[in-house]
Amino acid sequence: MLSDSADKSVRAIRVLAGGTDLVPSMRQKLFEPESVLDLRLVKELRGIRETEQGIEIGALTTLREIETSRLLREQYPVLVDAARTVASPVIRNMGTIGGNICLDTRCLWYNQSLAWRKSCGFCIKKDGDLCHVAPGGSKCWAAFSGDTPPALLCLKAEIEIASAAGKRRIPLSEFYTGIGDDYRRLQPNELLTRVILPKSSAGYRGVYRKLRIRGSIDYPLAGVAVAVKRSNGHIDDFRLGITAVNPAPLLVKGTDNLIANGSSLEEIAEAAADLAARTAKPLTTSALTPEYRREMIRVFTKRAVLEVLGQRPLLACPERVE
Ligand SMILES: Cc1cc2nc3c(=O)[nH]c(=O)nc-3n(C[C@H](O)[C@H](O)[C@H](O)COP(=O)(O)OP(=O)(O)OC[C@H]3O[C@@H](n4cnc5c(N)ncnc54)[C@H](O)[C@@H]3O)c2cc1C
Ligand code: SF4
Repeated sequence: MLSDSADKSVRAIRVLAGGTDLVPSMRQKLFEPESVLDLRLVKELRGIRETEQGIEIGALTTLREIETSRLLREQYPVLVDAARTVASPVIRNMGTIGGNICLDTRCLWYNQSLAWRKSCGFCIKKDGDLCHVAPGGSKCWAAFSGDTPPALLCLKAEIEIASAAGKRRIPLSEFYTGIGDDYRRLQPNELLTRVILPKSSAGYRGVYRKLRIRGSIDYPLAGVAVAVKRSNGHIDDFRLGITAVNPAPLLVKGTDNLIANGSSLEEIAEAAADLAARTAKPLTTSALTPEYRREMIRVFTKRAVLEVLGQRPLLACPERVE
């Protein structure tokens, strides 16, 4: 673990977990650390364990391990569904849950080679002082584009963050800032060490649906996670998370009201879709238009809600742009 006295030099360090995003980003000179701290041999950060409080997942656990975990599939299916849509099988064999949570935000103007970015005069997120997406503003709107965080938000997951000074545990919802170029609350001398899924979220039926250009291997351009708890035909709790359409993954607010007033399942699905689409604020950070991405949030939310409520068959494959 890094000592606090090393804090200054630590700014020049990047942590490598699976390296599936870090290495390509370094090649594009998006990150130019002096040193890379390779975590891959830290066994203590791997594995899925059942505890009294729920389930703990080590930050270095691969997405493949999550995708194939029987325990998670039985108790937290929305997370398994989201994990199995990340990139491709080869990448999921290396990519970790910690790396997916800490993933850098993405933008059409940023995820490019040095020469490409230089030709456009760079931008606020790296090396420049203007935003091509919202010219005149001083904020970066790059979109958070990880698949598992909306599912984890639906499960009210917490994360453990460690440094030489000790450990702290926070709800995942407090980890993200909503600012594209400073998107996570993680000090340079801190590591994400564990993800905790509470027992109270076990048994929620859930699905994750995403929009992507290449169905076999692509980041989400819009993603929706839905988790529902039902008993005796009644909906007890209903959670909805979205990703890739804002600088942070978000839990959609107001879903409690949807189930309170005795509406039909179709009406609940329509209202949830409206809420999700209103929460989504996509901008021109990707190759697909903001209007299309917002509309697909609406479409996927409605379909996903009807699927988890048993009104539509669960789809065999993740959806993509036709
Ligand atoms: C072609 C391609 C397609 C992809 N498609 C998708 C996709 O569909 N969906 C998706 O979500 N992602 C996608 N990714 C991105 C990436 O593969 C995954 O997000 C993966 O889960 C990242 O995990 P990793 O362990 O490889 O992270 P790394 O690349 O090792 O790290 C990613 C970032 O997190 C930081 N980090 C990693 N672990 C920790 C930790 N424990 N504590 C603190 N910081 C940490 C690193 O410093 C780095 O900034 C894609 C990548 C590629 C190359
Ligand atoms: S949103 Fe603006 S500042 Fe942020 S990466 Fe895109 S162009 Fe750059």
